[in-house]
This record gives sequence, C-alpha cells and structure tokens, in this order.
Amino acid sequence: MEAVSLVRCEEYHQATVEKGVHEAVRLLGGWDKFVKRGDKVLIKPNLLTGAPPEKGVTTHPSLVRAVVLQVKEAGGIPTIGDSPMFSSSLVRAADKAGLKEVADHYDVRLVEFDESIEVDNPYEGTFRRFEIAKQVFDFDVIVNLPKLKTHSQMLLTLAVKNLFGCVVGRKKVQWHFKAGTDRLYFARMLVELYRTIGPQLTIVDGIVAMEGNGPQSGRLRELGLILAGRECVALDMVIAHLLGLEPLLLPTTFVAKEMGIAPVDIGEIKILGEELNKVAVDDFQFPSYSTMAWNIPYWLQRRLKRYLTPLPSVELSKCTLCHRCLEACPTGAVSDSNSQMIINYDKCITCFCCQEACPEGAIQLQGRWLMRLMS
Ligand code: SF4
Ligand code: SF4
Repeated sequence: MEAVSLVRCEEYHQATVEKGVHEAVRLLGGWDKFVKRGDKVLIKPNLLTGAPPEKGVTTHPSLVRAVVLQVKEAGGIPTIGDSPMFSSSLVRAADKAGLKEVADHYDVRLVEFDESIEVDNPYEGTFRRFEIAKQVFDFDVIVNLPKLKTHSQMLLTLAVKNLFGCVVGRKKVQWHFKAGTDRLYFARMLVELYRTIGPQLTIVDGIVAMEGNGPQSGRLRELGLILAGRECVALDMVIAHLLGLEPLLLPTTFVAKEMGIAPVDIGEIKILGEELNKVAVDDFQFPSYSTMAWNIPYWLQRRLKRYLTPLPSVELSKCTLCHRCLEACPTGAVSDSNSQMIINYDKCITCFCCQEACPEGAIQLQGRWLMRLMS
C-alpha cells in the first residue's frame, strides 16, 4: 500500500519548516530510507521562472534549505538543479527565487539542465524514449520538491508535473506542440516521463499554495501543509482529494489509472500524520472555466472538447508588451500587431503556455458559450 505523509506547517519560519520536513520524512521511515552516506542527491524544486518567494510561484527557499540541511545530515551530497521554462538562466532564476542564497550559504552546487540525452522508457508505454537533461542521471537519489499550484491545462501542478522541468528549456515547448489540443496525450507523456526519471522521494510545498489563475498569476492560498511520499501519482491523488476534487479528474491521475499504475481509490493510500478530512478545504479555487472542475466525465469531455475548452485572451490594460507569451507559444499563434498582442485562434492548440508565461496575469481564459452557460 502506498503511503503519503501529511504534516501541518503554518509558516515559512525556518525552524518550523525544518521540523515539518523532518516529520514528513520520519513518517515515511526517515531520511536513512532514502539517502545513504556519500549519495549524490539531486534536489529538484519548482523553478518555473525567477520570481521572489512571496509570489508563491516557486518552491519556497525555507523548504529547499530544510531539505539541503537534512540531506547533509543524512550523509548525502546535495545539488539543486532545474531548467526554468521562463528564465534565461538557472542562476538568474534561483537568485530571484532565493535559492541561490541557500546554495551559496551551504556550499551547494546549482546545476542548470542544459544538455539533453535520449533515454529509453524502461516501462511499456506510449513513448519509447524521452529527451531528458543529461545532468539528471548523474545522481544516486532524486528528491522532487513541487509547489502546490493550479495550472490551466493540467488543473494542478504537483508531484508528477514538476518533473517536466527535467526536459531541457525550449524542448518543453516541442512537447506541447506534439500534444496539440490533446490534453490526455500531454498527461500521458508527463506520467511516463515521471516513471522514467523515477524520483525516490517527493516533498510538496503546500504551506502557501496558489489557486485561481496559476501557475504564475494566481492568488496565494494558505494551506499550511507539507506532504511527502515515494510515489507521485498517489501523492497527487491525496492533494486533489484534500482540495475537494475527485482525483481522477486530474488528467495525469486519469491516465495513470488507464495505465494500471494508480491506486484504485483514495482508500488504497495509507495517510500518515494528519487526518485527511481534518485538513481538507472545500473552497479552493481552480482555474476559471476548468472543465475538470465541473466533474464532467472524460468520455463526454472528449466529445465536447471543442465547446468545453476555454481560449486565452489578452487583457490589454495589463499587458506590458514583454513578448514572453509570443516566445512561449509553440504554434506561432501569438503576434504583436502595432504594439498590441493578438492571438490567432486558428493556430491556437489551447496549451496555455502563453498564460503560464505571462508575468502580469494579462492572459485570461475566456469561456465559450457552452462553458458560460454551465458556469
Ligand atoms: S496562443 Fe497560447 S494557448 Fe494558444 S497555442 Fe499559443 S501558447 Fe498555446
Ligand atoms: S506575456 Fe503578458 S504582459 Fe507580456 S506581452 Fe504577453 S500578454 Fe503582454
């Protein structure tokens, strides 16, 4: 039976976070179960872009610091690594997100994922091989540190989705292009990628989460939780459940169930620490016009996809013409026409990379007529 630990942690005060991380891992058997003396340990935070910790976009430096310290105490050699989607360099993003200070203070290497290698998918699946950052395979142990946030396409970005950061830079955009409008294809790629990378431990920063228009422009939401587990799909299922969402409405969980690797239901996951129902929230805000949040079964979503997928639209009053949306768009659907950002909906595959990239929250999701009727 898969186990997930659930620990209350109300603030980012360093001592409180260290205690919370220690307890979350102790409930799973302790650091010794994951890290042996001399192990090279990759710590993979969510470093989507260079944003200050108080924005809630990236894994908080207090949590990363706690993990660095505890990996060292267990005898491991920690390194922090990622490939930020919307920053020119890891060091720049880490500096803004407060992680460079952690790395400098504890003499920890920051490793930019900047070189891809082809890796065979060791399991039977849809994808025979992936291009993954070469650096990921230089380590004995991977500790995955996602931030609990909403995501317009995948509904939430949690344990499984955080590993997409192991795909180098702009190669991420190619996956969006390949998936086109098929959200489940993209979800399947994420699940198979997660299994290929195979992190040994995941610790989720759910102390201050992001709800609404995530993963960059949503509202902060204090949940006061640290969650940990070995198995990312089970962890994501527990988080969905505590946020009031049927876990199978997460595309990655749905696909994992089709693949036969997800627990049948939440009752098959052993919850350690806090009682799930005592920390559950019933008013968490999912992205606007999220079809999944309406609890529509996938077979119907597939048939009505054209009518149930929102479209991105630019709120000109918020737009600073930074062009990040244009650079992020895999299909060239975004252009600057006389200092006004325009989206060509004939080319749009509704991947929402533009919305994810926009630092101003200027790209909103606009519901189609059926969605407006249902909301
Ligand atoms: S316009 Fe936005 S949602 Fe549409 S394809 Fe481009 S990035 Fe994706
Ligand atoms: S990313 Fe946002 S602010 Fe920048 S050009 Fe696009 S819509 Fe405007």
